[in-house]
Amino acid sequence: MNDVSVITLSESAAKALDLLEAVGFESWCVGGCVRDALLGRAVNDYDIATAASWEQAERVLADGGFAVHRTGVKHGTITAVLDGEALEVTTYRADGAYVDGRHPDGVTFVKSIEEDLARRDFTMNALAYHPDRGLLDCWGGLDDVRAGLIRAVGDPARRFAEDGLRVLRGCRFASQLGFSIEPQTLQAMRANKKMLACVSAERVTHELDGMLLGGHVGDALIECVDVLVAVLPEVAACRGFDQRTPYHIYDVWEHTARVVQCAPLTLRARWAALFHDIGKPAACFSEGDRMHFYGHPEISARLAEGAMRRLLMAPRFIAGVLKLVRMHDRQIAASPRSVRRALAGFDGDIELFRELIGLKRADAMAQSELSRPRLDLADDLERILGDLLAADAVFTVKQLAIDGNDVMALGVPAGPSVGDALDAALEAVMDERVDNDRGQLLAFVESRL
Ligand code: ATP
Ligand code: MG
Repeated sequence: MNDVSVITLSESAAKALDLLEAVGFESWCVGGCVRDALLGRAVNDYDIATAASWEQAERVLADGGFAVHRTGVKHGTITAVLDGEALEVTTYRADGAYVDGRHPDGVTFVKSIEEDLARRDFTMNALAYHPDRGLLDCWGGLDDVRAGLIRAVGDPARRFAEDGLRVLRGCRFASQLGFSIEPQTLQAMRANKKMLACVSAERVTHELDGMLLGGHVGDALIECVDVLVAVLPEVAACRGFDQRTPYHIYDVWEHTARVVQCAPLTLRARWAALFHDIGKPAACFSEGDRMHFYGHPEISARLAEGAMRRLLMAPRFIAGVLKLVRMHDRQIAASPRSVRRALAGFDGDIELFRELIGLKRADAMAQSELSRPRLDLADDLERILGDLLAADAVFTVKQLAIDGNDVMALGVPAGPSVGDALDAALEAVMDERVDNDRGQLLAFVESRL
């Protein structure tokens, strides 16, 4: 962790503080930017808390060369932009209940930064910094940052009851920062998870996205599972669900958490990892001492689709995740022919196919030693994919040297038979029976008439 003395602010943030203070308005950098600077992490965005009203801040900053936008003046917030950097500048305030998890319903403006810090969610986010006055830490945030602890400001139960979004912010920060959640705070998060019902699906999805992409997501998923079931009830059956097969050493949820952690760093792959085995409890049947999960990818896909629709995700995104979930257990042999066939099933979406290989690797990494050969298989698949791409190999109809017009010119009537003829030509090319050469392809199509 960095020493307080080495916190450096961006030029725009430092200038905004100077401009406001020069005319007598005490102002501080607050929240995530102070936390991240202390941790030596890249700062996302600077938030400034000020004694000025938004009208006063607008005047001072506009005169000082900032472009000012009235982004949340009801709550005392303006956005001030200089050299492409946007700062959120907010009048000291205390909050009423939050409705959208970001902007409280009713706000009262307050006199001091101390009162403003008291409304913030976690001690690590209730730090203020000014280059001349140093760190203002009313809630022990610095010690908690040092100890890697997420702790609610004040009475945890009350803080989560005020605003359900904070429950998920806690999970997200655990994943992003690798901090653990202080026991009473975690207990209050669990006790107030019902509050998540008041949070909009978009905001829930946004927090879950951030959580899934975090560097410590595996541990966070395990620590926070009791909370997550409030927004993903499908997960409940996986928690503690034993898998008695030689391939598994973890219960379904712990396995899932590890797969997410090892999955490619894209939202699509991470969500697919989260859902890939969610249908296992429903698919399970026992044979003596051994369990089987035949058909679980399809059940997982159905549960995943319901969850993602409820979370209002985009249909295209949902389709990609479902494809990965359905395919995660499908065998693809390490041969060019087999990889080309699999690619054909991805409609030319090479990135999605790469994510599938990454998901398969992650799945094997979270299984017993018996699954080790699958890691080599994933490497082989990646290598073969690279070779095929380098050789401009054909795996979609679009890449063929003939198109529908050519097929119709040979006398195939317009309609589904045109597509059938092209599909057959593609198969023949992928099987290396015919080259992707116009003459050869036309002869092939004609020979089938
Ligand atoms: P990041 O930007 O990395 O998500 P952050 O802590 O900066 O993290 P923001 O959403 O940018 O999060 O919010 C800025 C600050 O506003 C927080 O650090 C916190 O002090 C306060 N804050 C944000 N949301 C809430 C909330 N729901 N309840 C209480 N305080 C909040
Ligand atoms: Mg922020």
